[in-house]
Amino acid sequence: MTTDPSPRWAGMVVAKQANFYQVRLEGATPATLLCTRRSRLKKLGQRVMVGDRVQIEDPDFTDAQGVICEILPRRTCLDRPPIANADQILLVFAIAQPSLDPWQLSRFLIQAEATGIATQICLNKCDLVPTTEQQHWQARLQAWGYDPLVLSVEHQIGLDQLATQLADRVTLFAGPSGVGKSSLIRTLIPDVEVRVAEVSGKLQRGRHTTRHVELFELTTGGLLADSPGFNKPDLVCAAQQLAGYFPEIRDRLAANPCHFNNCIHHNEPHCGVRGEWERYEHYLKFLEEAIAAETVRHQQPDSEARVKVKIKTDGQRTYEPRLESKKYRRTSRRHRHQTLKDWETELNREDLPPT
Ligand code: GDP
Ligand code: ZN
Repeated sequence: MTTDPSPRWAGMVVAKQANFYQVRLEGATPATLLCTRRSRLKKLGQRVMVGDRVQIEDPDFTDAQGVICEILPRRTCLDRPPIANADQILLVFAIAQPSLDPWQLSRFLIQAEATGIATQICLNKCDLVPTTEQQHWQARLQAWGYDPLVLSVEHQIGLDQLATQLADRVTLFAGPSGVGKSSLIRTLIPDVEVRVAEVSGKLQRGRHTTRHVELFELTTGGLLADSPGFNKPDLVCAAQQLAGYFPEIRDRLAANPCHFNNCIHHNEPHCGVRGEWERYEHYLKFLEEAIAAETVRHQQPDSEARVKVKIKTDGQRTYEPRLESKKYRRTSRRHRHQTLKDWETELNREDLPPT
């Protein structure tokens, strides 16, 4: 005789501390359970992340406890901050105080684009500048390929539009300090301090540790991740992938592809990207930084450097183990002195068209 498998409940992990998880159940009372995970998942090396949709086996509603028995497939997955199934990144900047630095915004945008998650820019403190300046920034960022929401948390301007943008989605906040992120979170989640105290109490640890993420349900719908992990972009991306993180470059390539499919849009002839557009100089600067960072990584003798990264022309990376002993390793010129120029000359230029 077969017995029915124990009933399973679906839910979402909203907070995590050590080996305990807070899971918000879908359509059950009480709504939140304190859970551990089945040792089978641990043995399989399956990490439970905040944002994960999970199944709970046979929950104990009296004590509000349960055991996670399965992690459902993820739509997206970020490592820093560690969060699964985020639908969008909301980049919060201020138009004034601090004044909007286009280079800083660009760096945040590249890091956001590199996650593959949709990015929405939000310009706060519009009360501090005249309408003409707001319009200037809106038009300028539209030319970058974004459609910013303009708001003032302090004067309650634009908050309805923001609520619509956040509804039914899992959103991650990012942005430099002083732009009004905490004020915005307090406005969107009026009892945030109480909720934080509850979670911290149950999970026996404080928050504001660097890798701590927590999801808050908004009264207007949607979930908001409050995390300190994504506020200092450090631009770690492969040089060959950088171009893909600029909407302006994506558009230019679609309209007018470069002659070389491994073009890095620097000095190559018949390049569809090089030209008079605002962020082209950002691209060149970041490209230089990305190449310099790759060179440093290649030169590091640590364990990570035992894996050799090969970048294919389509921007995909492949990884190969490095030879352990230096004696047998051929030192390549690329690894010793790689500059933008070296990089270019190493690219295959045999099929140069007549100029
Ligand atoms: P965070 O560092 O991004 O979390 O920024 P905070 O929320 O701590 O805000 C920094 C400062 O900006 C505080 O003094 C806020 O009162 C102020 N602030 C936040 N939103 C607005 C706004 O819409 N307009 C103005 N004028 N000030 C704001
Ligand atoms: Zn090009």
